[in-house]
Amino acid sequence: MLEIRQLSLRYGRHLALDEVSVTVGEGETVVILGANGAGKSSLLKSIAGLAVPNGKSSITLGGRSIIGMPAHLVPETGIALVPEGRGVFGDLTVEENLLLGANPRRARAEETSRRQLVFDLFPRLGERRGQLVRTMSGGEQQMVAIGRALMSNPRYLLLDEPSLGLAPIIVKELFAALRGVKETGVSLLLVEQNVSTSLAIAERGYLLETGRIVGEGSAAELRTDPAVQNAFLGAAALNN
Ligand code: ATP
Repeated sequence: MLEIRQLSLRYGRHLALDEVSVTVGEGETVVILGANGAGKSSLLKSIAGLAVPNGKSSITLGGRSIIGMPAHLVPETGIALVPEGRGVFGDLTVEENLLLGANPRRARAEETSRRQLVFDLFPRLGERRGQLVRTMSGGEQQMVAIGRALMSNPRYLLLDEPSLGLAPIIVKELFAALRGVKETGVSLLLVEQNVSTSLAIAERGYLLETGRIVGEGSAAELRTDPAVQNAFLGAAALNN
């Protein structure tokens, strides 16, 4: 289990996360819903070793503390991050981008079978393995980013707003592929503003508002929770 307890994070005087507690079980898909600036990226960055939480915070994987671990060592524990904005290398091909993800020791021996798994989950990447990534669509680039993270043989995949900026039909395709990833037994921790699509794939979720968890429940509970509606629709929803 991935366990985040009382995680607080400051940027100077700004408290971006305030005692956030979240758990993700083996094979589970959990979504963190939150509007712009709620702290979703900060939460994933803290888990991935890209932000340094305060002293009281705790992050454990299988009971072992990973807090404060340098970002380049985190993938060795079985955690992979697909960052917001994807972070793919545009001047490299699909295949070259994927191979960069196979760097952790836990992944190197299985590079060929992992690559095949990625091509099975995202057939379009297989068809376009020699294409330069900058010439691909946003949805395809997101698939490359997810594929590269999968190359590290993760047990926990952290996804930062994978649907951002994509057309609804592409989002549908992307989430169908994520369902395939989930079926391989990988746990997913997804942060999203796309409420209905992400709740359709998740078992559980949390609502994050200005750095605090203000709600949690099963996907079915969150779907009908007025706090979730209000968090995204804001004043417009309240006025109706
Ligand atoms: P978005 O969807 O807009 O990316 P988010 O929910 O992912 O939002 P974060 O990016 O985690 O939110 O940001 C949380 C808060 O912390 C915001 O108020 C943001 O302005 C602030 N913040 C984020 N990164 C930094 C930074 N490096 N320095 C200072 N403040 C930051």
